[in-house]
Amino acid sequence: MDPILERYRPLVNDFAAFADACARPLPTCIWTNPLRVDWEEVRDELAAEGLDAEPVAWSREAWRLHSPMRLVDSLGYRAGVFHVQEEASQLPVALLGIDPSCRVLDLCAAPGGKTALIAIRLGGRGTVIANDPSRGRQSVTRTTLDRLGLANVSLTDRDGRDPSWPEASFDRVLVDAPCTCEGTVRKHPGILARASEGSRRYLADVQRALLLNALRICRPGGRVVYSTCTFAPEENESVVADVLERSGGAVRVVPVAVPGLRSRPGLTEWDGRRYPPAMALSHRLWPHEADTGGFFAVALQRTGRTASAPPAFERPSGDRHPEDPDVEPWIRLFPDRFGLDRDRIRSYRYRRSGRRYLLAIPADHEPRLPFEPFSTGLAVLRVNGRSAKPTTRSAIAFGHAAVRNRVLLDRAQALRFVSGRDAWPTPHGAAGITSSGWVFVAHGRITLGVGVAVPDPTGWRVESLYPKHFAGLSRPSDSIDSVS
Ligand code: SAM
Repeated sequence: MDPILERYRPLVNDFAAFADACARPLPTCIWTNPLRVDWEEVRDELAAEGLDAEPVAWSREAWRLHSPMRLVDSLGYRAGVFHVQEEASQLPVALLGIDPSCRVLDLCAAPGGKTALIAIRLGGRGTVIANDPSRGRQSVTRTTLDRLGLANVSLTDRDGRDPSWPEASFDRVLVDAPCTCEGTVRKHPGILARASEGSRRYLADVQRALLLNALRICRPGGRVVYSTCTFAPEENESVVADVLERSGGAVRVVPVAVPGLRSRPGLTEWDGRRYPPAMALSHRLWPHEADTGGFFAVALQRTGRTASAPPAFERPSGDRHPEDPDVEPWIRLFPDRFGLDRDRIRSYRYRRSGRRYLLAIPADHEPRLPFEPFSTGLAVLRVNGRSAKPTTRSAIAFGHAAVRNRVLLDRAQALRFVSGRDAWPTPHGAAGITSSGWVFVAHGRITLGVGVAVPDPTGWRVESLYPKHFAGLSRPSDSIDSVS
């Protein structure tokens, strides 16, 4: 028996079942994106993909697959209809208790699965900051947000312990902390070999500092969720208990019931140390109980003055992100070519990113940070002089509202399109084309991306501009992650 699993023998109710579950592969779990597909259509979409799935009892969006599938090739994945994420990993977002008015900071965000779910809970508006010091991992966050069509996120790459994060400036802060990842053993069987007393001690120091900073950054009365994917109490209850003890009553554990979730209470004792009784209000997921990975999550609140909204943080140099004055000739493409309503276009602000891209940022998105996000919004146009080319992100953001030059493809042709090949719409599917040139390409009500309509002896041929990296096939070739 692995000595790491063995140390948890006193904590689990059925050790043989626990060890057995840790040796079995993890069921695949997805969550659907209600901003891309209506709830009543979800089942049809999943069935069309051949997905044999059942809803997860405790989550609005999550589905568990009965048999494993390679999902990155599926139309639903490539079209941003769903995202693949372990069931246990979705728990912290549930504990955050987000409503659409919240400003949210995800302090350790990459590769961005939880950030995306948070951005969806805000309805694609407002402000989410996705922070992670790893630029490599943040490029995956960028791609995920683009594929899911989420414009309400700015990306930063600071150390989460940095004191320059402004105090009391968010309603919700998530600390999904770096950890020994023991709970991912079903996905990564070699992971236990990396856990040691030394790594636990080092990580616990980092985790404590991240959590303390998160509590400082969150407004009093707001909520901080601390989570890890490890079994180790040294990285879970011990870290939180240290912070509670240090806070002298200024931080409390928030009880959050998650109906339908099979979790266990947090520990109140380990290795001779007693923790505050409130630690029992945290959630522990053990692999053999709900057939998930191992996970720990707890919601905390700074007590004291309950501000209803975070104080505005003034940038030292005022608003450095006004809309570019010269965007009008470019964004005119959307009403001119696609008949898009000006009000829809104007619910975003636009500004240049580097020399090549124009970003669309929800009008109410306000990072309000003393440092620059390195990426923000959705890059909706690629610009060159006075000419502009719509991107896949623009199709995702605006395509459903286009009244012309929107092409409908059947499922087989749509699959060709998202794998980068030419597609041939039926005469009915091509009825919206007014002339050769840019078209938004859709399957049913889901817009997939941008193509070029070219006259063809059979009617119209559509050249695919679907980006390969959306399906995780390659890294982004056009770097859009620097905001100049
Ligand atoms: N929340 C992510 C998600 O759902 O996709 C997973 C986060 S992962 C468990 C922990 C992350 O913490 C890693 O991406 C790592 O780069 C980041 N990290 C490590 N040290 C950090 C620090 N000092 N400040 C902020 N993030 C840090």
